Amino acid sequence: RPPIAQTIQVKAHFDYDPEEDLYIPCRELGMSFQKGDILHVISQSDPNWWQAYRDGEEDQTLAGLIPSKTFQQHREAMRQTVVGDSNNKEKTKKGKLLCAKKHQKKKKKKMLYPNYNEDFDSEEILTYEDVALYYPRANRKRPIVLIGPPNIGRHELRQKLMEDRDRFAAAIPHTSRTRRETELDGQDYHFISRTQFESDILARKFVEHGEYEKAYYGTSLMAIRAVVNSGKICVLNLHPLSLKILKSSDLKPFVVFVAPPSLEKLRQKKQRLGEPVKDEELKETIEKAREMEEQYGHYFDLIIINQDVDRAYHQLLHEINMLEREPQWVPATWLA
Ligand code: 5GP
Repeated sequence: RPPIAQTIQVKAHFDYDPEEDLYIPCRELGMSFQKGDILHVISQSDPNWWQAYRDGEEDQTLAGLIPSKTFQQHREAMRQTVVGDSNNKEKTKKGKLLCAKKHQKKKKKKMLYPNYNEDFDSEEILTYEDVALYYPRANRKRPIVLIGPPNIGRHELRQKLMEDRDRFAAAIPHTSRTRRETELDGQDYHFISRTQFESDILARKFVEHGEYEKAYYGTSLMAIRAVVNSGKICVLNLHPLSLKILKSSDLKPFVVFVAPPSLEKLRQKKQRLGEPVKDEELKETIEKAREMEEQYGHYFDLIIINQDVDRAYHQLLHEINMLEREPQWVPATWLA
């Protein structure tokens, strides 16, 4: 006997258009959706074709067929094999290498480079992610994580939020360098020894860390948790490689991707700000944003296009206000 029908909610990690699907048993019954949509799956009795409707379209007569998770995964795997999986892997490896090289370059210039846990599994085939509704809690506010390519005002956005000191706070970083006379332990930094730092890295206590003039610096899960426990909203500027550890922690981060506008709009923005406009650099920023979205888009809760920093700030603030009022779809594992 088929299992008792139970509705599950999933977040789609791919776009789907039944019109372009050669395999769907009946195109008219298919339902299109886009990456990021929340879907209510009302029947999984067919192993290949689920029945679902999009969140917000509660009229269940709008329900339609969508590929099941296993069917879609299988199809993706096949597609990758046909297109040349090795080619893809090569690309990923190259991407990582390139990334490492860039950081080395940065190190020379700024003497600061980040290290990450290399446990990011880009090979995993993402189709649907089980989600559940999270109801905001007044004393446990979700940290806001700003992600995005450099030079598009991410730091400025963070600074603007942090002006409201009663509401927002930064996590206090750890360092292995010696404390300066004017500094307070636990206020400017958490000062720890180099060996302690190294064992904390191994114990995966940091969401990110780097080295600067022979000292370690890093942001720990504990420091973020301390802000959450104080009732404030922690604001973090992170590299996307930090997201995996943060997302699998208990901190329920809200990930905001700060994206550049089109080349023309970016050019106009730079001109307005009186900043030098080098088309090559602008194109690089746009390309970097595209790559980030492709590789880490499944982690994003919100995308903000920063064409005008005031407008972007108000949009961000509006979303943060909503987070404190409205229920949100989060990975089901967070609430298990
Ligand atoms: P200072 O020792 O002068 O306080 O800081 C030296 C450098 O360490 C600065 O460039 C600062 O940006 C960097 N730094 C401070 N905190 C952190 C952190 O949590 N992580 C990383 N990667 N670098 C940090």
